[in-house]
Amino acid sequence: MKNIIFISPPAGGKGTQSTKLKEVYGYNHLSAGDMLRRCALSNTDLGNKVKDIMSKGELVSDDIITNLIKEELKKCKDKPFILDGYPRTLKQAEALDSIDNIDYVVIYFNISMEDSLKRALGRLTCSCGKSYNLYIDELKPKVEGICDNCKKLLEKRSDDNEESFKVRFNTFIENTKPLIEYYENKNKLYKIDVNKDVDSIFNDIVSIIDNRGN
Ligand code: AMP
Repeated sequence: MKNIIFISPPAGGKGTQSTKLKEVYGYNHLSAGDMLRRCALSNTDLGNKVKDIMSKGELVSDDIITNLIKEELKKCKDKPFILDGYPRTLKQAEALDSIDNIDYVVIYFNISMEDSLKRALGRLTCSCGKSYNLYIDELKPKVEGICDNCKKLLEKRSDDNEESFKVRFNTFIENTKPLIEYYENKNKLYKIDVNKDVDSIFNDIVSIIDNRGN
């Protein structure tokens, strides 16, 4: 299976699709946001800096996230990986390509700002990594506020509010255009429509990785 890079506006569904790909095909799921959230919990100067940046919806520095990603990539020797939320800038894309023997397909989640906002406001997450959505029937938890898998209490991400969303969406638009051009020029970019049910999106992704498989 090919390595995958997911590029998506906030709450576009890349985490949900990554979880399915991990379950079905054994992918390593490397979520830049999760790595940074873990870092933000550490009571260190770096952790506090990252927490502050994330709460405003801004991007952490290219160097911080690139170092975290490189460490995780070293652990993925035998399994393909999904990069969920990395790269987000042209500089990050270039840093990734400077690593030897890296190949991948890039999948872009096409979703409007209105839909992205609605999903962000309805999102609930569990510390086990599973994500739910109150506004999408198939993504609602079976019991309100409780994770179907591990029965823990679901949480709302602190940056899933309207103010932080606007910064995140605008930051995404600003940084994504050059990123899209970069990957289009390398003939690696696939755009998918994410206004569909989870399984149909999954099938679209599988047909991309199958057609381009090793
Ligand atoms: P996500 O979980 O993908 O929505 O990311 C949550 C937040 O983590 C973003 O709003 C940024 O503050 C930060 N973040 C995630 N990925 C990156 C990245 N590749 N570069 C810089 N900041 C990032």
